[in-house]
Formats: sequence, C-alpha cells, structure tokens
Amino acid sequence: YAAKAAGKNRVQVFSPALLDGDQTTALETELRTAASRGEFVVHYQPIVATRDGRCTAVEALVRWAHPTHGLLGPDAFLDAAERTGVINRIGEQVLRQACAAAASWEDGGRPVALHVNASPSQLAHPRFVTVVRECLTEHALAPKQLIIEITESTVLDSPSVQATLDVLAGLGVGLAVDDFGTGYSALTTLRTLPVDIVKIDKSFVAGAATEVADQAVLEAIAQMAARLGLETVAEGVEDLDQQRFVERAGITAVQGYLHQHPVPAAELTAWLARAHTDQPVSSRA
Ligand code: C2E
Ligand code: MG
Ligand code: MG
Ligand code: MG
Repeated sequence: YAAKAAGKNRVQVFSPALLDGDQTTALETELRTAASRGEFVVHYQPIVATRDGRCTAVEALVRWAHPTHGLLGPDAFLDAAERTGVINRIGEQVLRQACAAAASWEDGGRPVALHVNASPSQLAHPRFVTVVRECLTEHALAPKQLIIEITESTVLDSPSVQATLDVLAGLGVGLAVDDFGTGYSALTTLRTLPVDIVKIDKSFVAGAATEVADQAVLEAIAQMAARLGLETVAEGVEDLDQQRFVERAGITAVQGYLHQHPVPAAELTAWLARAHTDQPVSSRA
C-alpha cells in the first residue's frame, strides 16, 4: 500500500496480490522438494487426564524444518500443501514418524495413545487407510491407540470422507472432533459420525476462568458428551484457573501450555519419564 502511495510506476511491482501470487508458487515448489528431502518433523503435545493427571495421549503436530527460515508451524504452509495435494505426502510422513515414536510411550504402565490430524483431502485419498493399516502392523499398535482428529467442516459434503471414517471405525481406530464448537454443524457431527472424543476449541477455554458465556458452553458440552459416552479434551489450557474450571465442569482431559508445549520426540520421552517418577501432572498434585 505504501508503494501505491509512493507513485504510479511502482504499483505493479509492489502490488500485494502480485507478491502473494509469486510467493505462493515458490512455496508450492519448495513444499514438494521439502517432502522429498524429509524436512517435515513432528512435535508432540501431551493430553492429560483430569482424573489422575496421567498422560493418556499425545497429539502429533507437524513442523517444517526449513533450511533457511528455521522451524515453521503448520499455519505457514498447510494451506498451500492442501491446495497442491502435497499434504498427502506430508501426512503420510507424519503418520509414519508419529507411530514409530509413540509405539514405545507409556505413562504409569499404561500405553499413551496417539492423535494425528487429518485434512479432508487426506481422508478422501484412497491411500490413507492403507498407510494407517501398515503403520499399525509395523509398530504393533492396537487400533484404539491411534486417534484421527478431524474438524467438523471436513465431513460436510464428502461421501468419500464419510466412507473412510467408517472403515477406520471398523478397524477400531478412534475418531476425535477437533476445534469443537467452531463449526456450524457441531451437533450433527456427533449424530452422524463414529466419534469417540470431542476436543473443545481453545477459544472457549480461554475464557474458562472469567467469561460466563464460555463457562456455560464448556459445561454444556461436557454434560452432552458424558450423556453420549464420549471423552472430552479442553484445548489450550494455559493457567491453573482454566484447569480448575474445566475439571469442575467434568471435562475428562486437558491439553495446553500449562502442562507442556509441543516438543520433539526425545523431549516428550524425557517429560514422560519425569511425569511418572515425580508426581502425576495435575493441578491437584
Ligand atoms: P489443532 O489440531 O487444533 O492443534 C492445536 C494447536 O494449538 C497447535 O497449533 C498447538 O501448538 C496449539 N496449542 C497447544 N496448546 C496451546 C495453548 O495452551 N495455547 C495456545 N494458544 N495454543 C496451544 P499448531 O501446532 O500451530 O497447529 C495448528 C493446526 O495445524 C492444528 O490445530 C491442526 O489443525 C493443523 N495441523 C497440525 N499438524 C497437522 C498434520 O500433521 N496434518 C494436518 N492435516 N494438520 C495438522
Ligand atoms: Mg488437532
Ligand atoms: Mg484444535
Ligand atoms: Mg485446528
């Protein structure tokens, strides 16, 4: 915009739209190269039971170890990866890395489940179920130890996604609805999909200690989920006041910076070792 104000001649060169277009093309090319070079790495964030503070699961979160820009989060590249279909290669690498890492994790003698995010195009891809089966076999993971996270919008208009989810459920793989409450079909999702876990969006958790409206939503989701026999995870728990409220509301597990940031596999292994030699990680500990 500054360029536009500075003079007519420079408008073309500095047009934001033009810059966007160029950057997108470069990014899309780079993403393909990055996938072949294995530049995508997975970080892991614990999900902790409110009942006893034990780590019941970890969520796999992809990062791009970019050769010059450093470690990039998914917001920097997932949209482009989705547009170009590179997401399918990235997703397969994430699934394989994460299953290999998570197979050995346990807390207090109980195995730690693995949550993996999957986008609509991944779930519509015929290879997805094959890769899941291979991963389970290769690492001797019980199907229920793997949970696929989808957002509500994923399933809205795709019969092939619905079919994939039914096959996964048939295998015994778990299904979690991510960012719950932010989609416009929230309640329909619970009726039509084989859902096991509801992950309540962090926008509601942010106000858990202070906002009456957020508290009402959290309590209502917790009660509804309990009636339906579903587990609940509060995302983005950052402080003890939020933790105390979600515990009292009857939410079954929490995930957030209060407990641990997403970290590389080796750090998660060390965190788990600390978590059960010291005390369970909980506001009550
Ligand atoms: P998500 O699945 O809802 O993951 C939770 C996000 O919240 C992560 O962001 C995590 O780092 C962040 N987070 C965790 N605890 C806190 C907290 O206490 N406070 C705040 N403010 N944020 C917290 P991240 O890693 O940037 O991932 C963003 C999104 O990218 C994910 O949201 C997920 O939708 C997507 N994503 C990540 N990895 C993959 C993947 O392997 N495949 C696909 N298809 N999508 C992925
Ligand atoms: Mg998720
Ligand atoms: Mg989420
Ligand atoms: Mg999300």
